[in-house]
Amino acid sequence: MFKGKTSLDVTQLENFIYDMSKCIKCKGCTWVDHIYMPGVKFSTRCPSATRYLFDSYGAYGKMRIGLALAEGRLDYSDELLRILYACTLCGACDVGCKRNLDLEIELTLEALRIKAVKDGKGPMPEHKKIAQNILTRHNRFGVPHENRRKWLPEGIKPSPKADVLYFVGCSASYTSPEIARATVKILNASGTPFMLMPDEWCCGNVLYSVGMIDEAQALARRNIEAVKQTGATTLLTSCAEGYRMWKVDYPKLLNMSTADLGFKVVHLVELVDELIKKGALKLTKRLDLKLTYHDSCSLSRLSEPWIPWEGKRGQWGMVSPPLERRRGTNGVYQPPRDILKAIPGVELVEMPRMRENAFCCGAGRGTKEAFPDFALWAARQRLEEVKEVGAEAIVSACPWCKENFAQAVSKNGEGLKVLDISEIILAAIPG
Ligand code: SF4
Ligand code: SF4
Repeated sequence: MFKGKTSLDVTQLENFIYDMSKCIKCKGCTWVDHIYMPGVKFSTRCPSATRYLFDSYGAYGKMRIGLALAEGRLDYSDELLRILYACTLCGACDVGCKRNLDLEIELTLEALRIKAVKDGKGPMPEHKKIAQNILTRHNRFGVPHENRRKWLPEGIKPSPKADVLYFVGCSASYTSPEIARATVKILNASGTPFMLMPDEWCCGNVLYSVGMIDEAQALARRNIEAVKQTGATTLLTSCAEGYRMWKVDYPKLLNMSTADLGFKVVHLVELVDELIKKGALKLTKRLDLKLTYHDSCSLSRLSEPWIPWEGKRGQWGMVSPPLERRRGTNGVYQPPRDILKAIPGVELVEMPRMRENAFCCGAGRGTKEAFPDFALWAARQRLEEVKEVGAEAIVSACPWCKENFAQAVSKNGEGLKVLDISEIILAAIPG
């Protein structure tokens, strides 16, 4: 067993030898806890293990692979890389494992990808293309950078200077502009002045997710500095993936606390919830809709603030100084639910797997790019759950989720509505 000085630095897989070696293969990372389990249906939490039905694909398999790699007992192969990357890094395993053992499973999975890139083996070829797009055109799609603001509706003028800076992100700028448009209209309706970044670049989510740590760090430094130059006190996102990147992964990459970023990172649902509760925004227009809310991984269990830690591990794995564990319970769960419940005519029904136990949509962390079939399969699993509770619409707070669900619905020719919460909020504003 590992004893001695260690830290949560994901650039060194060795920091997680204790976590990898202490996995007891109980599969708490695969099954939803019994107290929440609604029955045999919807009882798994890990998309990768559920889809590939082979132990290597579960977190427990990857812990053993990681340990063998760290100890030089295993060589890379195509199949090994596939196992490392056909995983949505959704954090469901981390939540499951921490119910019992407090092992740092999500961080270990991230560290494994960083090691794979450092060893010259990762990421997958599809990821390299996305990375090239980000590095040369500042967006993940490889489309012209100068079109980044084309979504901005006529008649809405961002302020040259404001406390709130809206970071739009690649998806809402290019492929889901309805989310960006709804967001700025909501800000206008509530009388919230906002600015945009003078020259917005990609947040680098895919770079970090696939293990390209040097490129992700450089982008994190550039983006944080660009926000500081504007003087904004709040960075607003309408994208869960971007939210996690700014709030959790930038501080993690730069070995600092979220609290020391120099500005607050806020998702649209947090801002709108506050505006409603202060009376600055009224959602009084009736929308007769039975809907369910999908907790995006990056706005929920993966969104807890980052606090660096280094210390010692002693007998029975005890750590000193104490480590504030991130167990996923402090994610952004209530604000979107309170918003939806505040709208007249909206009936919110919950899916069996919700909050920190939600099943990932399958799109994020490099999955959709390298394993599109797996991503659509995961979305389908979730849509089965939507059907089970009889909802007419699935609502999420992330363009990645919306796009993946929409593709899965259209492939299946269903009538289910797929909406972003910004669209629902806008539709409920009178006038
Ligand atoms: S829950 Fe944790 S200890 Fe149990 S199998 Fe999964 S990773 Fe291993
Ligand atoms: S991060 Fe998600 S997909 Fe990957 S092993 Fe964990 S639960 Fe499974």
